Amino acid sequence: TIGMVALDAQGNLSGSCTTSGMAFKMRGRLGDSPIIGAGLFVDNEVGAATATGLGEEVIKICGTHLVVELMRQGLKPEEACKQAVERILRKNKYQKRDDLQVGFIAINKQGEYGGYCIQGGFNFAVCYADDHNVLIESKHFQ
Ligand code: ASP
Repeated sequence: TIGMVALDAQGNLSGSCTTSGMAFKMRGRLGDSPIIGAGLFVDNEVGAATATGLGEEVIKICGTHLVVELMRQGLKPEEACKQAVERILRKNKYQKRDDLQVGFIAINKQGEYGGYCIQGGFNFAVCYADDHNVLIESKHFQ
């Protein structure tokens, strides 16, 4: 999945996501990416979040909606992502499985961003732009 969340110069939030789909996925399987509140959720009053990984687990907790609601309660983006990951782990009784990988990224109305994933970390890019300059930084979440 490629997920993007953004805050524009007018202070409006947006987000989008694609999916590669899980390899060897079942015929007819949808995954979380096309389901609003699972793979992607934006509330312009609060924040935006997107997910990657094992979509079934994200769907079961309405993952990105949960992340945004946690930010509404005052959590920073990284902590909100971490709590959503923790909920998935709890529901899976903390059993280690190679296929159990889920990651979230999120941004809030203040432009603070963060992410969290179950295992291995992931790379992401942060882009700052104004009328004249674009700065892209490469980062890594644990
Ligand atoms: N979340 C996607 C799915 O479950 C997989 C991906 O990360 O591309 O289909």
